Amino acid sequence: MRPSILNPLFADVSSLRGVGPKIAALMSKLAGPRIIDLLLQPPVGFIDRSYRPKLADAEPGRVATVEVRIDKHQAPPGNRKSLPYKIICSDETGFLTLVYFHARADWLVRSLPEGSTRLISGKIDLYDSERQITHPDYVASADEGGIPPGEAVYPLTAGLTAAVYRKAIGDALTRVPDLPEWLSEEEAALLPAWKEAIRTLHNPISSLELSHEATHRQRLAYDELLSNQLALGLIRHRRQKMAGRSLMGDGSLTKPARKALPFALTGDQEKVLTEIEEDMSAPSRMVRLVQGDVGSGKTMVALLAMLRAVEAGAQAALMAPTEILAQQHYETIAPYCDKLGLTTALVLGRDKGPARAATRSGIAKGYVQMVIGTHALFSSDVEFSDLGLVVVDEQHRFGVSQRLSLQDKGRRADVLVMTATPIPRTLALTTYGDMEVSQIREKPPGRKPVTTRALPLERIEDVISAIGRALEKGDQVYWVCPLVADTEMLDLTSVESRTAALTDRFGDRVGMVHGQMKAEEKDAVIEAFSRGEIAVLVATTVIEVGVNTPNATVMVIEHAERFGLAQLHQLRGRVGRGEKPSSCLLLYSTGESGVLGETAKARLNILRETEDGFRIAEEDLLLRGPGDALGTAQSGLPDFTIADLGRDGRLLEKAAATARTIIEEDPDLETKKGAARRLLLYLYGQDDAVKRLRAG
Ligand code: ADP
Ligand code: MG
Repeated sequence: MRPSILNPLFADVSSLRGVGPKIAALMSKLAGPRIIDLLLQPPVGFIDRSYRPKLADAEPGRVATVEVRIDKHQAPPGNRKSLPYKIICSDETGFLTLVYFHARADWLVRSLPEGSTRLISGKIDLYDSERQITHPDYVASADEGGIPPGEAVYPLTAGLTAAVYRKAIGDALTRVPDLPEWLSEEEAALLPAWKEAIRTLHNPISSLELSHEATHRQRLAYDELLSNQLALGLIRHRRQKMAGRSLMGDGSLTKPARKALPFALTGDQEKVLTEIEEDMSAPSRMVRLVQGDVGSGKTMVALLAMLRAVEAGAQAALMAPTEILAQQHYETIAPYCDKLGLTTALVLGRDKGPARAATRSGIAKGYVQMVIGTHALFSSDVEFSDLGLVVVDEQHRFGVSQRLSLQDKGRRADVLVMTATPIPRTLALTTYGDMEVSQIREKPPGRKPVTTRALPLERIEDVISAIGRALEKGDQVYWVCPLVADTEMLDLTSVESRTAALTDRFGDRVGMVHGQMKAEEKDAVIEAFSRGEIAVLVATTVIEVGVNTPNATVMVIEHAERFGLAQLHQLRGRVGRGEKPSSCLLLYSTGESGVLGETAKARLNILRETEDGFRIAEEDLLLRGPGDALGTAQSGLPDFTIADLGRDGRLLEKAAATARTIIEEDPDLETKKGAARRLLLYLYGQDDAVKRLRAG
């Protein structure tokens, strides 16, 4: 249960002043449904009101605060609502007109009585060479001095005005309780307290305070990172203490399997297998991530780990993100298992009838030792007799909480997660900090590099000729476009129009696949491509994951400037899988400007220079934000509102180290400081981690 001291912060935003259900809905979309969400959403700009000129000097276009006498009200003639209500004001140097549309005259007469002196703040416009302010932001009587030196600007949306938002924030700030300090004394000595930092965040007095390096922002960034590292660390620590099982292999399957492989394992494959085998034989539960580029040989590592589990008398399962990938893994793995006298089953959601029942009964009775499938593996009608190892080929589709639920289903099974997206250390710490991490950086020998070229879109005819030559040699081609269908909004080629154009040229050997097709249709096209019935596959990025056709030697990416680096790298990984030399052609459009943007240029250059996914990922993080570097919103990346993984690498390392120390010294967060740290976890939505504290 969340400590009650935090309750005011977790109240609904609709409990704030001036926030009704409509406004609350808009705020929920922008920041979140609770007061804490609003408070943690930083302003994006600052309006400076320190400019206080005399009227004659007031520069048009600037926000100014002026002291004026209210001379005369001019209601629109005949009370016509379409005309503005004007108020003429002056100081000793000149005149100013205040302009109000759809005004409430009685309110204006009351707040700006003729003859009074007022402070007015707003943007000065010039209209018919007269200065005016339309709808001033502030009006205050001079003795109140009620105009702030400036204020925060928030990302707003239609229907939500700055004034309403600021008023709500103002009220939210009054609800912030005094909280005990969760940082160590040394850390706290250098930084403002959380409450003070939150106040400064929303009440900046100059644009300098909006800088990421301002101490209150650093404090809040650190709190975000520390809560993330502490939560992941606690989950990892719990798991290490949780009852697992020791899976000791005797080599009776892995030895002959290694002999049957047509190649020797690479050094990195051996190293990772040793790490996995050590984890599996330990009595605690394994949760390990294997990172490695496409084609680095992860599937072989998975196979040997699975055989290890079967040697130890248990069952092993491999879960793939799509049916096609499951099928492909099955086709790779089953022949080895057949030779070893093992029974292998493929489990898909679409299985039907007696075959479905037979497979499931074989798994339940333990006749089937090796199971490969999609998430259907974890549906309620699949029961294992004794599941020892789960391998998840995740392609970064799962977040921490999904991984937790997966483990809960597999009870005491060891878990091995494989990802084909190498990610930089900062991202690995924040997304995979709950797991041990192994890396395969070395590629199997003899792999032919993919020749990568960048060409302007104008040279598309040359590219089409090159494709013609590839087809004559019996090779196959991928052609990736950014859109499914043409739109008037964007001047980009769509899969549909490119398919039509290429069909004109190459006839019915051209096929198309995109995300708006039904799963079965998609699979049918991709399978036809695998079988060679289709020679040119025009596609969106749906083929980014797990399509494996070694005979494909050319990857054309149209509007390559539109794609992220990691994504381009994944797409390129679809070719270069067979014996023949392959190429990747990046067709870029310079748009109306006629020149390629710097970032786009840098991206294409890096791709030409290297095929090392880890290096590409690091460059991508520098070029783009972390969310983009991982490809999508489904990246499982925590949504930090203030911390910035591109810039806060060192802060993150510090948070990681601090979290480790905390867990060593106070693993159950039972001390007084520990109680404060629980507050930190709740504030930043890490309830899962705290729950596990108690449950353990
Ligand atoms: P990943 O799963 O990492 O994409 P795979 O395990 O599918 O990679 O391996 C890619 C290709 O390389 C496969 O054809 C596989 O048989 C081959 N391969 C794997 N390990 C080696 C190795 N050590 N030496 C040579 N070829 C290998
Ligand atoms: Mg693979």
